[in-house]
Amino acid sequence: MKFCIDAGHCSAGEDTGAQGNGLLEQDITWLVSDKLRSLLEVAGQSVVMTREYKDHILGKTEEESLNRRSRICNDAKCDWFISIHGNSVKNPASHGTEVLVYAFGGQAEKLADTVQNEIVVKLGTYDRGVKEKNCSVLRKTNCPAILVETAFLSNEADSLLLRYQHSDFAEAIFKGICKHCGIKVQERYSYHNTVNQMILDGVTSVENMQYWEQNLDDGTKLMKNVCTIIERYQELLKESKKVR
Ligand SMILES: [Zn+2]
Repeated sequence: MKFCIDAGHCSAGEDTGAQGNGLLEQDITWLVSDKLRSLLEVAGQSVVMTREYKDHILGKTEEESLNRRSRICNDAKCDWFISIHGNSVKNPASHGTEVLVYAFGGQAEKLADTVQNEIVVKLGTYDRGVKEKNCSVLRKTNCPAILVETAFLSNEADSLLLRYQHSDFAEAIFKGICKHCGIKVQERYSYHNTVNQMILDGVTSVENMQYWEQNLDDGTKLMKNVCTIIERYQELLKESKKVR
């Protein structure tokens, strides 16, 4: 499958995003999109980015920038369009996650439902639901398209999630996509991640892992157990970093 990931807004020009609590929307959308790209690629999917790098400017005017996004998706004949944004309003109390679609009743709405649910569960954000909205990027793309309003930059608690847990937003969106689009990657994905992490941490080496796989009778079962232990170790490590 081919995914078009649209990191909302640009770092300069007429299409810059919202600001709030020291965050720039275009920076957050880039971080989430870039992580989502690698997750999908590791899962064997092909990805087209509208912004190919962080400071990529897509047009002189806002209209030009928006039109370019749907054109990139349509020209590449992508199967799904995923636009990433952050919300912002005057009232600092408004908070939560919502996913937008051009119209209810199609594949986009179903994907939006799954993605919305995964984010709310993983991040604990307030569930504002899936909404219809006449956005240029949703209207002008040929394939099913969703626009993820991750959380509110203008709300203090939400902004902390965006600042420190942007990877978790990407992971939740990825999980929602996998569920709806039938991408089965969980085992391979976590296997690769844990092995990479073990090598990076110096817990083992590439040669060591190969030896285990080749020379132990029940290599597969053993690997699964090792992965579970290492995943828990990674979680604990992450938690301890947050505390510090
Ligand atoms: Zn936006």
